[in-house]
Amino acid sequence: MGRPTGFLEYPRATPLHRDPRERLRDWHEFHGHLPEQSMREQGARCMDCGVPFCHTGILVDGLTIGCPLHNLIPEWNDLIYKGRWREALDRLHRTNNFPEFTGRVCPAPCEGSCVLGISAPPVTIKVNECAIIDRGFDEGWVVAQPPTQRTGKTVGVVGSGPAGLACADELNRAGHLVTVYERADRVGGLLMYGIPAMKLDKSLVDRRVKMMEEAGVRFRTGVEVGKTMPVSELRASHDAVVICGGAAKPRDLPVEGRNLRGVHFAMEFLTASTRSLLDTGSADASPIQARDKHVVVIGGGDTGNDCVGTALREGCKSVTQLEILPRPPAQRTMDNPWPQWPKIYRVDYGQEEAEAEFGVDPRLFSVQTRRLVGDQHGQVQGIEIVNIRFVPQPERRPPKIEEFPDTIRTLPADLVLLALGFIGPEREGLLTELGVDIDGRGNVAVDEYQQTSIPGVFAAGDMVRGQSLVVWAIMEGRQAARGVDRALMGETVLL
Ligand SMILES: Cc1cc2nc3c(=O)[nH]c(=O)nc-3n(C[C@H](O)[C@H](O)[C@H](O)COP(=O)(O)OP(=O)(O)OC[C@H]3O[C@@H](n4cnc5c(N)ncnc54)[C@H](O)[C@@H]3O)c2cc1C
Ligand code: SF4
Repeated sequence: MGRPTGFLEYPRATPLHRDPRERLRDWHEFHGHLPEQSMREQGARCMDCGVPFCHTGILVDGLTIGCPLHNLIPEWNDLIYKGRWREALDRLHRTNNFPEFTGRVCPAPCEGSCVLGISAPPVTIKVNECAIIDRGFDEGWVVAQPPTQRTGKTVGVVGSGPAGLACADELNRAGHLVTVYERADRVGGLLMYGIPAMKLDKSLVDRRVKMMEEAGVRFRTGVEVGKTMPVSELRASHDAVVICGGAAKPRDLPVEGRNLRGVHFAMEFLTASTRSLLDTGSADASPIQARDKHVVVIGGGDTGNDCVGTALREGCKSVTQLEILPRPPAQRTMDNPWPQWPKIYRVDYGQEEAEAEFGVDPRLFSVQTRRLVGDQHGQVQGIEIVNIRFVPQPERRPPKIEEFPDTIRTLPADLVLLALGFIGPEREGLLTELGVDIDGRGNVAVDEYQQTSIPGVFAAGDMVRGQSLVVWAIMEGRQAARGVDRALMGETVLL
């Protein structure tokens, strides 16, 4: 695969992102592309390793190894190297319904388990994927593909995030008539109202949805199953149902001052900003504004980083991101070997932009919030933090947190965003009314065909897995489609 000596001849090269100071002035994507010859060289770096761990797609110790979609990575790398882009596109679409999303937002666990990565920088798998699909759209090769025959069966999919979309796309290919129900005003789930526009342009989501509509999938927005539409109506209208409602219940921070004005969950902030941008062309109409404010984001993960990038674009006065864990090491440690996902220090786009704007990385590591401080009108004005360390405990008990009292200080904060992760799917409405079994982690329990405890009701994505990744959601959506097809037809034609 690729050029046998390519990995010795060509260094890893990734496209230059737009300059942080420039891209902060707009909401356009920051990704770039390499020229054709460089792309072919990057394809050539795939080294015919024999056992390509890059497409394994398994979890070990909770960490993803390889591509969950089992993308045929060495095959399309070879086709890129040979300039056979159309065939590369066909190979890519065999396993991935939406490479234009993963090619932009996937953290690329495939690259963490690339065999070349043991001794050199890994193959640029994600960049290659994005180049193939973008070329496919530019050339007009990606078109709606309605099924040649209809089965007469109908399926209702609840939720239009990547899991629901992938499931609907596959079931439609199999000839079933699919209706997707979405409570929001726009289709896409967290692809639309979660991941900010500079990381994933919303027109790309609309483009794919339009193509699915042309292929025969129906979308009904503004419908909340279990609230504005009874579950009984959903079930009566379809031969099978797939619930893909995500895991949107945020983790709260029970500290003094939590109820002050100006303290919001990250998703409230991100959703309001994107909605304003899409409705008016500017984020100025968002009811939660970062402009001219000292913004503190609690939570050092990806959602927190998206808040940093969004606050900067809205014109914040300063931005700080608090992380309770220590700063990760620069290199893999002994207990995090290849082919595991490398748990190393990274600078994401928002952090890079904050550094360009204010001269420092916005993150403070090993800090804990003690309380939020308000003014006499009940508006947050500060956040009291302290440095901490984790003290290991015997007998596998969780480590204890030890504070360093002489490091207690108060940072100015007019807007505090809670990005502490998610604790699972919302129970009220849909899940309660359906009465599906819940597993020990609070997610929807399913069998190996993604079927819930109720026959004919399947589930996929974050609702089953907990807050995860787009690539896992697509994988589960495809898996649920196979389960449904098999249940309806006795066997499945889906891959
Ligand atoms: C801010 C943020 C940034 C992220 N960035 C990345 C990233 O860069 N890369 C990455 O791989 N992953 C990222 N993720 C995670 C990723 O977005 C999710 O894992 C993925 O979207 C899950 O897909 P899903 O289809 O299961 O659910 P979701 O995308 O959450 O979609 C669920 C949909 O179901 C709808 N719904 C729920 N209940 C009902 C109901 N009763 N009736 C009708 N509709 C309903 C919701 O409105 C929603 O639209 C991010 C997550 C967040 C929060
Ligand atoms: S979907 Fe993600 S893990 Fe799979 S090949 Fe693409 S970048 Fe890698």
